Amino acid sequence: MSEAVADRRESPALAETPDIYGAYPRLSDDQIATLEAGGARRTIETGETLVREGERSDYFFVILAGKIAVTTTNDAGVRHVIRVHGPGRFLGELGDLEGQASFYTAEVVEPGEVLVVPTERVRALVVHDPVLSDLILRAYLLRRSLLIQEEHGFRIIGSCFSPDTARLREFAARNRLPHRWIDLERDKQAERLLQRFGVSAQDAPVVIWGGAVLRNPTNTELARWVGLPAPDTFPDESDVVVVGAGPAGLGAAVYAASDGLITAAIERFATGGQAGTSSRIENYLGFPGGISGADLAERAVLQAGKFGARTIISAEITLLESDGGQHRLTLADGGSIVARAVVLAMGARYRRLSVPGIESFEGNGVYYAATFQEALMCGTGPVVIVGEVTPRARRRFSSPPWFPRCT
Ligand SMILES: Cc1cc2nc3c(=O)[nH]c(=O)nc-3n(C[C@H](O)[C@H](O)[C@H](O)COP(=O)(O)OP(=O)(O)OC[C@H]3O[C@@H](n4cnc5c(N)ncnc54)[C@H](O)[C@@H]3O)c2cc1C
Repeated sequence: MSEAVADRRESPALAETPDIYGAYPRLSDDQIATLEAGGARRTIETGETLVREGERSDYFFVILAGKIAVTTTNDAGVRHVIRVHGPGRFLGELGDLEGQASFYTAEVVEPGEVLVVPTERVRALVVHDPVLSDLILRAYLLRRSLLIQEEHGFRIIGSCFSPDTARLREFAARNRLPHRWIDLERDKQAERLLQRFGVSAQDAPVVIWGGAVLRNPTNTELARWVGLPAPDTFPDESDVVVVGAGPAGLGAAVYAASDGLITAAIERFATGGQAGTSSRIENYLGFPGGISGADLAERAVLQAGKFGARTIISAEITLLESDGGQHRLTLADGGSIVARAVVLAMGARYRRLSVPGIESFEGNGVYYAATFQEALMCGTGPVVIVGEVTPRARRRFSSPPWFPRCT
């Protein structure tokens, strides 16, 4: 058992974490019986690690007796307890269903018994039990939100002036990957952390997780590292390939897969597309109270996955060729995919401001949206808005000092 966990064995921190948000529900006896059809019981001993941060877990654990602590590693490299669960609760979070590396470690702190079910089996079982399915999915979505809010997960260390730092931050945020950004310019511990991992400031931005370091990774490298689904998990030949995983593409994937077609959606950046950046969508069918774009995207990906559709992230289609009823799609990294039908759901591309050299500032000072993500990047600094002024906008921004020049 790790010292961090051992130290707390007798402390109040090992009291079960209260279920304030509905993220840690208890399963009923009937629900446990449903899951038991696909799994097996086994005893657990204090100190045993069931899930390890940074490694993929292929099992779903239900606690039948005893207690399990969920821990994460802080900036100093020390593991600390963030939750404690007892009988009736289950482990896991959203990434486990999607095959991502785990963003937490689960360690037994009180001996007992668990039910172990392969994640594949859980996917199949919950399809036939809507109540159980809702309970697990809701808990997993909430747990992912908590991990993001509390800034667990990997660390991105880089300068606020670096376009690559901005790129990695945006990729992590848009893909809802738990992480923390440490600004080389302002955070005093950044240099110390780099030294600890034997990295110099010239290598920044770097991504650090567990003992591993990625030096200025591409989005695809980061995606593969955390286990976002890669093109090589594709079926050799699909009935339908959807290019783009915004609302339209994910909708197409859900309908195609639910009709029994072998379906895959390919997304070059992040699921949800433009909608994924919206903090609240009020006019989407079925959500009278509104829903955030990120939540909508996560639910849609899970829904598509429930019917067997695969969603591949950070893979861009650059060429489509058709021959005799077969379509070949070429990926930016050189691979290719064959499909009987292709749905192009690639959304919109923004008109760019025509100023020489502006590309090097895009995503790092020049933005084509004003969502929460851009607000995070801009902080409290002054902002200039360039754009076409509609009569409505003119009414809203009627005092010109901060709306300086309208084109
Ligand atoms: C901040 C914001 C708030 C919004 N709020 C609302 C709202 O409240 N209500 C509303 O109705 N609409 C809203 N919209 C508009 C709405 O989001 C869009 O109409 C919707 O996202 C369009 O969906 P789509 O799937 O057609 O395209 P997109 O959402 O643009 O998705 C297309 C996807 O295809 C991917 N792609 C493109 N080319 C390739 C390629 N070659 N290979 C692989 N992938 C590719 C892109 O990366 C993208 O993820 C909002 C938009 C924004 C930006």
